[in-house]
Amino acid sequence: MRDFQAILNDIHSNIIKTKDKGVVASYIPELAHVDKNNFGIHLRTADGNHYGVGHFNKPFSIQSISKVLALAKAISFKGNDVWKRVDVEPSGNPFNHLSLLELENGIPRNPLINAGALVIADILISHLKNPKEDFLNFVRDLAGDPSISYNEQVAQSEKATGFKNYAAANLLKSFKNLENSVDDVLDFYFHQCSIEMSCSQLSKAFYLFVNKGKCLMDKAHLTESQAKRVNAVMLTCGFYDEAGEFAFEVGLPGKSGVGGGIAALLPNHFVITTWSPGLNRKGNSQLGMKALEQFTSKTKLSIF
Ligand code: GLN
Repeated sequence: MRDFQAILNDIHSNIIKTKDKGVVASYIPELAHVDKNNFGIHLRTADGNHYGVGHFNKPFSIQSISKVLALAKAISFKGNDVWKRVDVEPSGNPFNHLSLLELENGIPRNPLINAGALVIADILISHLKNPKEDFLNFVRDLAGDPSISYNEQVAQSEKATGFKNYAAANLLKSFKNLENSVDDVLDFYFHQCSIEMSCSQLSKAFYLFVNKGKCLMDKAHLTESQAKRVNAVMLTCGFYDEAGEFAFEVGLPGKSGVGGGIAALLPNHFVITTWSPGLNRKGNSQLGMKALEQFTSKTKLSIF
């Protein structure tokens, strides 16, 4: 039996000594205020135990990690029809890249780049009665925690500066791959990205991807096959043009966000989440990736 707490403690003490902590995202001005000395790591295992070190209970902006939860909700409504409007190929490009979208006639490469997430947001707006409220309640239910909320300042900050997302949404609309208005889709998307959660809350919310589509409360949100597919998309597309590197170094399906969070998992075994706000050049948490590499190397627990 591995001593997970000791392993996490060890990783924590290695990581906090690292001098180069990366750069905090500032293209969304509200995110720039976060202290890059924050570091948290949390593990929730399928046998019901959990372990954490550092700032694992401190909420941060989950940003693109929300795209996986939105995808799960969209699949629960539309099943395989989701894949008519968004593909499942890695893009090999940054999260906000646009040229492929034009070349490929408005079908985004995958649901975890921004263009794909905007299509998923559109699906949710079409299916939810009160989209922002209902989506937040879905995330709260997954995590079993009603305190989870949007950060309105972060949403408004991105609304004021998210020009590439406006461009992506307009391109999608021109290719008739949005049913709702560009403004409604962007408003929903900026809010979903602004959700604040801690590592421990994220570990709970991502549990359904460990548990064949059933959340911690044992409710089936996805079928086993749908959960398998979401995990496949996380593995191949969860880190944009660094998805290969993450698979190579860490070897788990996962998803990053520019708030510095990462949620990763081993199906049937565990969810592991990290938060370190400094990003590398590809927009993924520099120390989060390092910590996860150390975890799967030390424990030899990866999908490979
Ligand atoms: N809201 C951010 C954006 O659209 C999310 C990006 C990310 O976390 N990679 O730019």
